[in-house]
Amino acid sequence: MNWLTNFVRPKLKALISRKETPETLWLKCPKCEQMLFMRDWEANQQVCTHCGHHMRIKPMKRLPHLFDEGRFEQHALPKVPVDPLKFRDTKRYDAKLKEAQSKSEGRSDALVVASGLMGNRTTVVALLDFDFMGGSMGTAVGEGLVMAAELAVARKAPLIVFSASGGARMQEGILSLMQLTRTTIAVRKVKEAGLPYIVVLTDPTTGGVSASFAMLGDIHIAEPDALIGFAGPRVIQDTIRQELPAGFQRAEYLLEHGMVDAVVHRHKLRETLVRLVSLLMDPLVVDTNSPVAATA
Ligand SMILES: [Zn+2]
Repeated sequence: MNWLTNFVRPKLKALISRKETPETLWLKCPKCEQMLFMRDWEANQQVCTHCGHHMRIKPMKRLPHLFDEGRFEQHALPKVPVDPLKFRDTKRYDAKLKEAQSKSEGRSDALVVASGLMGNRTTVVALLDFDFMGGSMGTAVGEGLVMAAELAVARKAPLIVFSASGGARMQEGILSLMQLTRTTIAVRKVKEAGLPYIVVLTDPTTGGVSASFAMLGDIHIAEPDALIGFAGPRVIQDTIRQELPAGFQRAEYLLEHGMVDAVVHRHKLRETLVRLVSLLMDPLVVDTNSPVAATA
């Protein structure tokens, strides 16, 4: 009996409740359908190791790859009134919001604001989280972006935004739409202070976010194959009743048509951002002894 209870039963239990089931160890790339070992995929910043497809990455996974030595400070979003319209569709909005908060390690809304050194320069970064109610922009996200812009101005730091959003948060109605103007004014303050404002458009950036701060950068970078637009391709196709060209609203298509300045691989983002900020902020050092300076 002892052998059964003390040895066999725990073994059986361990077999049944194994934490690392095959589903959590492997995932399938949606593009090339190859099986990827989860650990390799995470180490590769969630880019497919076979075809290079960029899968969506959460802000907290992205942040360590951006800052020097992966060190940064996270800033809590300002408190805002919850569910001001007492909105309800299939579920109460405040219940939906609570559910999203509990799934996102206690974060209050779809924006993460962080600051730290990037290329030895203080930088403010704001990232939208698509997993939090579709990265939608309500009062909290708007307020958070205003805070990020003010922080950048106060610290004389560049502001870098990573966008990923389905648009304005419908449950906050007109208050959501007001964030379009508020965020536009906020990023203008950064520009008026002579500080760089760079946007990295990630998959997907649509709706009210693409109609406001996400399209107002001094420089727009996009991640490969990211969907970027205002209305989705299906809505456009149904409206104009015409077949859309291949790759329509994808990062590469937008680059070809002058809507974005560069499509940059996730592994090259940090060095690209550091170089761009340096080009925009550092005064040009002219060597007066060089023959080029003498003729200029
Ligand atoms: Zn792949």
